[in-house]
Amino acid sequence: MHADETPKQDALSVHRRAVAVDMHADTVQFVIDEGADISGRVETTHLDAVRMREGGLDAQFFSIWVEPEYFGTGGERAIGRADAQVEAVRALAENRPDIWTLATTAADIRRAAAGGKLAALLGLEGGYAIDEKIERVGHYFARGVRYMTPTWTHSLSWAGSSGDEEGRTRGLDGFGRRVIREMNRLGMMVDVSHVSDKTFWDMVETSTSPVIASHSNCRALTNAPRNLTDEMVAAIAATGGFVSVVFYPGFLDQNWRARRDSLDRELEPRVREVALGRGLSGPHERIAADRFRERVYAERLEAVPLARVADHVDRVVELAGVEHVALGSDFDGITATPEGLSSVAELPNLTAELLRRGYTADDVTKILGGNVLRVMEETEGRAAR
Ligand SMILES: [Zn+2]
Repeated sequence: MHADETPKQDALSVHRRAVAVDMHADTVQFVIDEGADISGRVETTHLDAVRMREGGLDAQFFSIWVEPEYFGTGGERAIGRADAQVEAVRALAENRPDIWTLATTAADIRRAAAGGKLAALLGLEGGYAIDEKIERVGHYFARGVRYMTPTWTHSLSWAGSSGDEEGRTRGLDGFGRRVIREMNRLGMMVDVSHVSDKTFWDMVETSTSPVIASHSNCRALTNAPRNLTDEMVAAIAATGGFVSVVFYPGFLDQNWRARRDSLDRELEPRVREVALGRGLSGPHERIAADRFRERVYAERLEAVPLARVADHVDRVVELAGVEHVALGSDFDGITATPEGLSSVAELPNLTAELLRRGYTADDVTKILGGNVLRVMEETEGRAAR
């Protein structure tokens, strides 16, 4: 490196050489509900193809997320909502093969990156869509889904969530263990983000392939039920998996989280007015409420510096080593972003911060995507053929 090269230029050159993979973004909701064309530049999302290129991101796992409030925790409507999202991601590659490639393996991602294409991948957030039927795991695998977390914020009969009371005592039941074994057999990564502590330990015990957290942080730094304890981080590393650090300030910074909680109590009546007053329903009601919160958070809460993201990366590295950390932004699923990480286009700012902290280009290449590729290859290799 030349003495006059700034860390930012260096970060860009690391991005150009690395294969960068983000484990979690909710962008497909906006594709379905608002018709966002993310093959071009979009003003209303955190992520699109243009800004993926600007930010040096080669591959994105799109979250297939069923909102229980509007679609239930199982049944035809939940299945329909999940399937529609899967098809919307597949349609990116079908309609714009000049930009996107549907990727289901590590080799697909490497090929896409080498060929200048963006890789679109699928991850299922919440097992509602399998509707308590083991064969539906195979259905989603066949459609390209390569990771699944059993729950979102509502516990299921077969797995507990970190987001409700039932989850505290609910682990995996017999069916839940069968689901994990079926994922191992097929070669679908086992994701613990959102599950309860009890379910986490049951998943680690049951899975014979590496366990991942697609978008979770460290509880030692930010006490949120859905963040991971130090013991959990170490257990994930012991399976060979990784923790993908999430960019939501509420999971990054204890003070921001506390201030948001008290602001939320104040805003609650107005949030309902905003959505109901416009006669909105279903996901449009939620999107309107989220945008209202986003605007007020930006006005009233001091932004969290992107250094907090690097702090969580540091913590995982201290506990488990640089082979066991990755990135799971949760872009388009979060109502606030860290300063300097307002969209995927700003990802090189994080790389610059990691380089400034002494990580080598090799380390950063692992964090940006090398670790994900390794775990995908191992998961593929362990699948029954
Ligand atoms: Zn999530």
